[in-house]
Parts: sequence; C-alpha cells; structure tokens
Amino acid sequence: QPVIELRGIEKVYQTKTIETVALNHVNLIIHKGEFVSVMGPSGCGKSTLLSIMGLLDEPTAGVVEIEGRAVQSYSDRELAALRNHKIGFVFQSYHLINDLSVLDNVELPLLYRPGVSGRRRRELAHAALDKVGLSSRTTHFPSQLSGGQRQRVAIARALAGRPELILADEPTGNLDSVMGEEIMELLLTLNREEGTTIVMVTHDEYMARRTERLIRFFDGSQVS
Ligand code: ADP
Ligand code: ADP
Repeated sequence: QPVIELRGIEKVYQTKTIETVALNHVNLIIHKGEFVSVMGPSGCGKSTLLSIMGLLDEPTAGVVEIEGRAVQSYSDRELAALRNHKIGFVFQSYHLINDLSVLDNVELPLLYRPGVSGRRRRELAHAALDKVGLSSRTTHFPSQLSGGQRQRVAIARALAGRPELILADEPTGNLDSVMGEEIMELLLTLNREEGTTIVMVTHDEYMARRTERLIRFFDGSQVS
C-alpha cells in the first residue's frame, strides 16, 4: 500500500535569467513501512523532492498522490491537515526553538491540531520523548543538550503527532560519527518497531546502505 506516490514530477525554478530543472520526470512510490534513503550530489534535487513529498512545495508538472488521492484535489484546509497529521519532518540543523523547553518544542506541532486538549498534547509529547530516550530531559532547553540529543528532540517532535511518513533531510549531517550512529539506530528502530515509513536524504553511503532501499539521484532524475 503506497503512502505516497509521485508520477511524472517536474520542478522548474524560474528566475529572471535562468531556468533550473530541479526534478525531471520523477516517478516514485513509497510503500507503507519502508525505510528509503536518497543519495546524490549537491544540487541534484534531493531537497526539492522532500519538500514536494512533504507538501511544502508544488511541482511544476506531475501528480502527487497520498493514500491514492491526488493532492491537487484537496482543498487548502485539507492539505494543511494532511501536512500536520500525516507527515513529520526532521532537518539537519534540528530547527528547535531555543527559548522553549524540550517538552514545549515537542508539543508545538500539536498546537495546530484541532481538538487535541492540552492534556492529550502533553501525553503525546511525553510518549514521543520516551521513544527517543529523552524522558529525563523534558524541562531542559535545547542549548543544554548535545547535538545528538537535540536531534532526538527533533525526532520526538516529528513523532508526537503519530505521522505515517517521516521525511528526514540529512538527519546525521551535523553530528559526529558516534552521535550520527545513535540517530541512525533510533530511526532504524522506529521503522522496525513502529512501522513508521521513513524517507531520508543523506550524503553518508554507510548510513544509506543500512536502509532497505537506496535510490540515487543525478541532475533531477533517479538513476538507480
Ligand atoms: P539538493 O538538495 O540535491 O542539493 P536542491 O533540491 O536543493 O538539491 O536543488 C536542485 C536544483 O534546484 C539546484 O540546481 C538548485 O540550485 C536549484 N534550486 C533549488 N531551490 C531553488 C530556488 N528556490 N530557486 C531557484 N533554484 C533553486
Ligand atoms: P553527549 O555525550 O551525548 O554529547 P554531552 O557530553 O554534550 O552529551 O552532555 C552530557 C550530558 O550533560 C547530557 O546529557 C546533557 O543533557 C547534559 N548537558 C550538556 N550541556 C549542558 C548544559 N549546558 N546545561 C545542562 N546540561 C547539559
């Protein structure tokens, strides 16, 4: 069962003087429970691919389907709900808010979810922090944590809303090899034990080989 399907996706960035084809007729199906890594040289379209899969950016041409329905047919409001409920993001540089506690950071995306009480929000946030092994750091602030711990908070934030799909853009890119390994283990465990579907962009061949499927991009196209 596909979580997300891309068909004939093109993305062209147009500036005054140049036209860049960031994605060139990309077809991709991500099935439920898969852990897919995406590799390729800088500028080959990886981030563009993630932002289109995350419904943050629209393709110039082609169809994105979520659960068998074309995203183009959803209203703006339905799209916002899809983004918020189905998809969690993890970034290379964590994107935590420094003057919020760990717990508040993790609760943040749930604030935009209608009908979730404050109490339920805290329950979900605690459960997510438990999964990433940070139950003892809920009142810390990001500046009081190591890089690996910050990324675990970011993963907890992505998990708190129980998304079907996690999109991770170089999640270990800012970490040394030991902490990177820890984050990779965590993602592999989440995938194996919770069945969370994960798409991860990485420059690290070793990390990529540990996922069940590795796709490579070059110049906006999938090459293997
Ligand atoms: P990657 O993540 O693989 O490094 P990107 O998806 O960021 O690649 O970029 C793909 C191509 O699209 C690059 O040539 C980049 O310069 C171009 N690009 C990305 N974003 C924009 C933008 N907002 N405006 C113009 N060109 C862009
Ligand atoms: P790691 O070995 O995972 O890189 P660190 O050596 O950076 O972790 O930190 C060890 C522990 O001390 C961590 O659990 C972290 O929560 C805590 N810690 C680190 N820096 C601070 C700080 N500035 N204030 C409070 N606690 C901190």
